Amino acid sequence: MIVEMRKSATQEEVDGVVQRAKSLKLNVQLNVGTDKTVVALLGSNTGQLSSGIFAVLPGVASVTRIMKPYKLASREFKAMDSLVSINGIEIGGERVVVMAGPCAVESEEQLKNAARAVKNAGASILRGGAFKPRTSPFSFQGLEEAGLELLEEVSKLYDIPVVTEVVDTHEVELVSKYAAILQIGSRNMQNFALLNAVGKCRCPVVLKRGFACTITEWLTAADYLLAGGNSQVILCERGIRTFEDSARFSLDICSIPVIKKSSHLPVIVDPSHAAGHYSLVPAIARAAVAAGADGLLIEVHPNPREALMDGAQSLTPSDFTRLMGELDKVAKSIGRYIQP
Ligand code: PEP
Ligand code: MN
Repeated sequence: MIVEMRKSATQEEVDGVVQRAKSLKLNVQLNVGTDKTVVALLGSNTGQLSSGIFAVLPGVASVTRIMKPYKLASREFKAMDSLVSINGIEIGGERVVVMAGPCAVESEEQLKNAARAVKNAGASILRGGAFKPRTSPFSFQGLEEAGLELLEEVSKLYDIPVVTEVVDTHEVELVSKYAAILQIGSRNMQNFALLNAVGKCRCPVVLKRGFACTITEWLTAADYLLAGGNSQVILCERGIRTFEDSARFSLDICSIPVIKKSSHLPVIVDPSHAAGHYSLVPAIARAAVAAGADGLLIEVHPNPREALMDGAQSLTPSDFTRLMGELDKVAKSIGRYIQP
């Protein structure tokens, strides 16, 4: 951390910064220039230290971080790529893993038709929400436990593991009984109580990016899960809110190579929630694979026109099947594959 003193800072104020740093067991390097003094604070934990501790001291002009606030999710902490394994399916390896299914579990028939379609097209994980985080309390909130039971039944019937969202700390145990992978949604990325609860369980987890969060905040949220002892963390880029309103969110394609550089965790992409419309999904999905995503989370509905939610962004089974063929070609062109 670098503390830049004001030009007018007195020797006493510089000493105040040095004393505060020493009280925190940090090493100090003083750079006394002709105009002003710069204090470099050195220590292994400066990334986790609040910069406000120094910003508040008299005579301080600015405090700049050098270390990132996240630790366990960083490449410095673990150089090798982490692999997350679900029933023998590895996420973070050469294979680009596709998770697909409806936004929400609506009925037995809907889920069975979706599962059959996505499995036949080559998806290896079935998605479907039983607990839905909705902007309005008057919107369909999901089938809740009845939805989890349907997910379990259909998962067994078609021999396909399931990813489903958990929205409340009190439901972590319940949802992890039914799901192979828990999903923490965009709106809950910084729900620290939920992160702590999921960190304590040993179920793999997809951590979606908060739509108003930086990559640094996202990786720091992942640290909550890792610090709790849950090492099976998969990041999911799903678009952020920008001034651009021609798609539902702006997919930050840059985040994929940035994550690969900064973190050892696998990262997948959800093109559906970024797009908001089915016509945009294939191009975004292909771009994600080309950019190095380890997997995709795609909404597919047997009959999008009848969907209770997110029908506009859901692919039909035939569009999804066509897309899977295209994705396989993109994956192969960069030395990866979709279909074994
Ligand atoms: C979802 O995957 O159904 C979902 C609600 O996504 P997000 O949290 O990214 O909005
Ligand atoms: Mn959805």
